[in-house]
Amino acid sequence: MQPNTLHTGSVAERIGFLNDRYRNHAAQAVLEHALNDSDVGNIAMVSSFGAESVVLLHMLSVIDRNIPVLFIDTQMLFEETLAYQTEVSQKLGLTDVRVIRAAPAAVAAHDPDGLLHKSDTDACCNIRKVVPLENALSKFDAWITGRKRFQGSTRAALDFFENEEDRRIKINPLAHWTPQDVQDYIINNRLPRHPLVAQGYPSIGCAPCTSRVAPGEDPRAGRWRDQDKEECGIHFVNGKIVRGPLPTVEDEPEMNTIVTDAGFAADEWTHGFVTPDTLGGGGAAAVAVDLASDADPAVLAGRLDGIDLIRVDFPSFADGRGFTLARRLRLMGFNGRLRAKGHVIADQYAMARRSGFDEVEISPELAKRQPQDQWLARANWQSHDYLNRLRGTA
Ligand code: SF4
Repeated sequence: MQPNTLHTGSVAERIGFLNDRYRNHAAQAVLEHALNDSDVGNIAMVSSFGAESVVLLHMLSVIDRNIPVLFIDTQMLFEETLAYQTEVSQKLGLTDVRVIRAAPAAVAAHDPDGLLHKSDTDACCNIRKVVPLENALSKFDAWITGRKRFQGSTRAALDFFENEEDRRIKINPLAHWTPQDVQDYIINNRLPRHPLVAQGYPSIGCAPCTSRVAPGEDPRAGRWRDQDKEECGIHFVNGKIVRGPLPTVEDEPEMNTIVTDAGFAADEWTHGFVTPDTLGGGGAAAVAVDLASDADPAVLAGRLDGIDLIRVDFPSFADGRGFTLARRLRLMGFNGRLRAKGHVIADQYAMARRSGFDEVEISPELAKRQPQDQWLARANWQSHDYLNRLRGTA
């Protein structure tokens, strides 16, 4: 449960109080107090579901498994990480894991081929990690990280509570842990290991930027190997950014617009989307799945009851396969929200509704070209239904 007493004082003042108050506490106690101390405020955990993440996730699940956990899917991660995220979330019963991704428009504009990491890792991390996380964290007063002092020179003086640019509090309950403490905790609590640890990856990030580490090497030596880069830009040291420009919310392209029979609205879905391949068997509080227009709906057979929202991509205005897919999903018994996304225009709104879609997601550019009244003119979609017209009920 989040603390309900409002905190007062600047971030710097509260950091001072908190570090004094909990200086001699153990990691679990720091985490427990942080979740309940009014000087901390509204809080989320950020987890990479990497080599050591399961420790903090387990501690959180014991105290309060409903605290939001933000997982940044850079869309460059190892398949093993995506599978591990699902496995750990389910095993620990975490109810609010939110998958955070870069806005598709940002990726299309800056990294359309997915090769930016080869020429400019700072820019790639900025688009795929820093800006999406910054946007996700804008709703929170504080966030919990798994960073530890032993992880390198940039983290050697880490405190339990850090001042993040006078904007937020960063909490590092494991700051003083050693590698042995991590190992002992995982073994003693019989927690699942990330499968790549056994293959020589003691620190795991994106697949293109993570390599195996030889015995005796620094555990983080495989991250951005041979590059002058230690941090992705998410983390700051002593209030100063380590690499890359400070992201701003303005860096993020405008949000897409959701069209329903009630008109235009912002997209309130904040839980992220998974694919049929990464869809787990349950455990997350809210589940949304992205489907290509040519997907076989059978891939979701037996799993539809656990899905809250399915979003079908329309790659072009002329591609009608998404309408057929929607009908088939409804015939299979899907009762959740069904959303058409992409190249759908106002003239196709009635068709989308008849096919079973509840809503359409359109780009800011299309929303400007085809404003709300053009869509609402088709909102009485049943009047466009030829069967109703034949029956005289329209
Ligand atoms: S770690 Fe590599 S692939 Fe991942 S966001 Fe950063 S530069 Fe891109």
